[in-house]
Amino acid sequence: MKEEKFTDVIVVGGGPASLTAAIQLVRNGVDILLISDDIGGKIRNANLIENLVGFPNGISGEEFVKRLHQQYSSFKVPMIKELVKEIKQFRERFIVRTSKDTFICNYVIVGTGSIPIKMNIENEEEAYKKKQLFYENYIARKHVKDKNVLIIGGGDVAYDYAMNLKDLATHISIIQRSRKAKSIPILKERVSRQTNISILTNIMIEKIKFEGKRLYLSAKREDKLIPLIADLILVAIGREPNIEMLSPELKEAYDNGVVIPNLYYIGDVKKGNYRQVSIAMGDGMNAAMEIIDQTTADDDNYGITREVW
Ligand SMILES: Cc1cc2nc3c(=O)[nH]c(=O)nc-3n(C[C@H](O)[C@H](O)[C@H](O)COP(=O)(O)OP(=O)(O)OC[C@H]3O[C@@H](n4cnc5c(N)ncnc54)[C@H](O)[C@@H]3O)c2cc1C
Repeated sequence: MKEEKFTDVIVVGGGPASLTAAIQLVRNGVDILLISDDIGGKIRNANLIENLVGFPNGISGEEFVKRLHQQYSSFKVPMIKELVKEIKQFRERFIVRTSKDTFICNYVIVGTGSIPIKMNIENEEEAYKKKQLFYENYIARKHVKDKNVLIIGGGDVAYDYAMNLKDLATHISIIQRSRKAKSIPILKERVSRQTNISILTNIMIEKIKFEGKRLYLSAKREDKLIPLIADLILVAIGREPNIEMLSPELKEAYDNGVVIPNLYYIGDVKKGNYRQVSIAMGDGMNAAMEIIDQTTADDDNYGITREVW
């Protein structure tokens, strides 16, 4: 049997939440290990981030992720590039497993973000395997040049994806179930100015069919059949917390809102969180500060919260 490795703190994930926590812990000399399959997280999908202070002209998701890489590298955050397969409680501690290693730690910070919700319609999986249907814009982007694209969804993410792909795709149709778009006004207004983006409302997609290289969607508006044809589909109908790696006991505690000491959920994975970078970073910083307080506390602070920078 392989030997287990011990680390005081394990941070799972490489998005803005986890990187904030990891950098703050490293700066304060805490023994940590970051385990993630990537550095940057979902914000790389964003066309333009305009709500982060410090970027007066906004910043693209890709550029923001480049900067996260630079900052994480300059702090030499210890990292293993892998997916965590399981997190479980073991007495007062935690066991964190990847496909290669098993770690034991005193604290776990989970910043695994969210996963896309699927449409659950006929041939969705098949189209995904054939690389004709995607759930993440940064992957779809590599395939959309000169293509007719259907973006399924009516929220901010669908509109942001459309703005991001408009200069590459021939035509984009945003297909939404509701009669009214749920996107914020500024995005709606930008989309409405594009000549190669159309919006179809009140549409229910029922199944996908393949004909040659093209995709035919059976869709309905009320009882009327609406045939839709595309080269590529991008699904943006929502996301849910990514808690696949939690043991059944931890999953149950998560679902019931039971607080487990020394286990932190930060960012998009946190139950009921608004999905915003600044909230994710705030969560990451908060978790790091609590751990710093506990792991580096000395006797002469008389229980007063110390100022740590
Ligand atoms: C199109 C789009 C536009 C957006 N625009 C904005 C915006 O303008 N402003 C804004 O504030 N927010 C925006 N957001 C939301 C923002 O991207 C998220 O709120 C933010 O990325 C959350 O950060 P996070 O660190 O919690 O999670 P994520 O960024 O999702 O990072 C999760 C990390 O965990 C890793 N991971 C997942 N599972 C495992 C595992 N089992 N083991 C190890 N690692 C794992 C992932 O690879 C990833 O590195 C946008 C999102 C999208 C999709």
